[in-house]
Amino acid sequence: MRLIVVVSCIVTFVVVDVVLSTVFYIQGSGPNPFSEDLEDFNIYQSILDLWATLMVRSCLLLGAAIGILVNRTEGPCRVASLGTLVVLVSLVMLTYALTKLLIFSEIGRLMYNPWFLSLFSWTCASSVGTMVLWKLLSRTDGGAAGGERVRLDEGDEEDEDGTRGTGDKERVNSGATLGRLLYYCKKDAGLLSLAFFFLLLSAVCEAFIPYYTGKAIDGIVIHKSMEYFTKPMIVLSGLALVSSLAIGVRGGVFSLTLARLNIRLRNLLFRTLMQQEIGFFDANHTGDITSRLTSDTTQVSDLISQNLNLFLRSFVKGVGFFGFMFSMSWKLSLVTILGFPYIAVLSKLYGDYYKKLTKEVQTSLAHANKVAEETISAMKTVRSFAGEGHEAESYHARLQEVFALNKKQAVAFACFMWSTCISELALQVTILFYGGHLVVTDQMTGGALISFFIYELELGECLESISSVYTGLMQGVGAAEKVFEYIDRKPEQSLDGQEAPETFHGLVEFENVTFAYPTRPETNVLKNVSFRIQPGEVTALVGPSGSGKSSCVSLLENFYWPQHGQVLLDGRPVQMYQHGYLHSKVALVGQEPVLFARTVQKNICYGLPDAPPEVVASAARKANAHNFICGLSKGYDTGVGEKGAQLSGGQKQRVAIARALIRNPRVLILDEATSALDAESEHVVQQALDTVLQNHTVLVIAHRLSTVQRANTIVVLEDGVVMEQGCHDKLMDLKGLYYRLVQRQMLGFESNGGPPRPAIEAPPSQKEEEQEGSGDEDVPRY
Ligand code: ADP
Repeated sequence: MRLIVVVSCIVTFVVVDVVLSTVFYIQGSGPNPFSEDLEDFNIYQSILDLWATLMVRSCLLLGAAIGILVNRTEGPCRVASLGTLVVLVSLVMLTYALTKLLIFSEIGRLMYNPWFLSLFSWTCASSVGTMVLWKLLSRTDGGAAGGERVRLDEGDEEDEDGTRGTGDKERVNSGATLGRLLYYCKKDAGLLSLAFFFLLLSAVCEAFIPYYTGKAIDGIVIHKSMEYFTKPMIVLSGLALVSSLAIGVRGGVFSLTLARLNIRLRNLLFRTLMQQEIGFFDANHTGDITSRLTSDTTQVSDLISQNLNLFLRSFVKGVGFFGFMFSMSWKLSLVTILGFPYIAVLSKLYGDYYKKLTKEVQTSLAHANKVAEETISAMKTVRSFAGEGHEAESYHARLQEVFALNKKQAVAFACFMWSTCISELALQVTILFYGGHLVVTDQMTGGALISFFIYELELGECLESISSVYTGLMQGVGAAEKVFEYIDRKPEQSLDGQEAPETFHGLVEFENVTFAYPTRPETNVLKNVSFRIQPGEVTALVGPSGSGKSSCVSLLENFYWPQHGQVLLDGRPVQMYQHGYLHSKVALVGQEPVLFARTVQKNICYGLPDAPPEVVASAARKANAHNFICGLSKGYDTGVGEKGAQLSGGQKQRVAIARALIRNPRVLILDEATSALDAESEHVVQQALDTVLQNHTVLVIAHRLSTVQRANTIVVLEDGVVMEQGCHDKLMDLKGLYYRLVQRQMLGFESNGGPPRPAIEAPPSQKEEEQEGSGDEDVPRY
């Protein structure tokens, strides 16, 4: 809100406060108001103290307004940080005014003085007004871009896990998050109304139970008559029956609604995740993401379901109880409500702190999960390097971090319980003390005091529930904010291309492509790369490891967008094609095929669930996989295990080739498709590839000399730059990098004394040789 508007409101408010309070005070006092009261102040007679509260309000508000006008950058934040203190001060003023009312009601004389009542009412209203104006002041933008800048700066901080800073998000209204969660329940409005109806029913019944219990006891003790006793007993039984039925239905319907919310949240989150660009998955760990998808969403719905239910029940019951209490003694009721706001402030402080801690625990748990997940998914590697002990240690260390936060949570909880118990006890002692006074002065009967006390105890329970609900809700809100952070994330690279031409030839062109990965924007891994793959031709990308071959493939697959230049398919940039269309025309067989833990059949027709079995079998035949699949225990219905672990490397690769071929792609990318295989499997897979090479535009990254030799064009990359391109003979004639790579490899075999193998391994490039001395440790391949 504009600062100037709020400051004007404050000035007006202070002027009105001064005028009204002074007029009410002067009218409600004797002939010489100020001088008399100052000389001989009497708390039972004078209302100067009520008038004086105006000083506190004016100083607070004017001081804050002047502070913000002087320091527009940091002022709003400082005012915001003093918010709780101001709420406390305002509550003290409110309490003081109510106490004064009770004191004057005892004396009787001034109680019905309209000027005193006006000053009392105005003091209450203006105390509330002070809180509201303070809040508005803390939300101003400082009148300049300054305040905004502070917020942005804080928001720019990055958490250690790379997510956006939580500095200003802490201040994001929890109410807004709750509102948003309720918005997601909109579809269940009918169910929620039903639950709310039964909640009201049960709460009303429960509120009447103590009343009729009292009547029944009266029937026994005072009237000593069965008739007086039986009637309330029948009503009591009816109430108990109806309330228990209503409680059951209410609980069930709430659980159902919240289960639906959980499913909705998970679905939405998963769908949003599926839309994110590949760079997002490079930057965020799988453990972090899955923990938001599983534990955070569950925590949201569990906490919201339990707490919303409890809150509504306690609230409705509390209102009912308070009605009964007020009808018994308004004075004692006033004393009771005096204590509530303090307990509420305490809960809020604790809730905020707990929310922060919960977020930290979640993040720290996600880190621990990440270690566990990574280790378990790479168990063979861990075992082969005897890394079990080290991994267990690092998991333990992560859990210790969680435990440190758990300890903080425990201490916070202990302090909270301690302070609420003390404040409740203080409240009860006060009620008993004041109630005793009312009984002694014949303003209340002893029986009524006992009933009142029972109601107060019940009310205390309701309030306790409400305060625990608050902290519980905050926990849920903390988890919800983390979930929404992902749900709200807009992918930096959208998949909204629309092109889907009927004819597609498969012409691939890289035009002056310069590219850096989003996680390392400062390093260009491709520099001004240009080459062209004619439809139906085979192009081989060769070069030392790390020269950018796979990065070219990633760009062609539209996983990333280049910073400069473009990758064209049939003359159109790849990102202009419809996502599904592009990947039906361009298929990739990677170095380490990733299969899903499903049947062979489902793996082959992945993304094409309606493909008939004959088509699947035909793709498998082309991939040289049909025979081995038929030999499996359940043929095409055999499960392949997690990531295809129940198949051999060669079998996995052939299933992956079948998965690519079933879409009948025009462009086939083979990214070192045979490099991870033993000679035998490589031979079988290569046979499969040789038959399919003829019918497609093929981009191949291979280390087999025969494949590279047969390619129509060979593009030689080094350090992200195209060094040479042409056919094998031309490049050999050039006697450049390609020639050297081949020569050295052949020489390498001869000096080893072995026969030349069909698969050759490239030596390090000259540059790498210079850098690393000998390339033996890391032999790069074509
Ligand atoms: P090649 O396929 O020729 O072995 P790559 O294209 O895989 O080379 O890698 C080229 C460079 O890009 C390497 O320096 C590698 O470290 C880097 N790189 C590869 N993938 C990523 C990624 N996801 N994020 C950041 N850098 C990457």
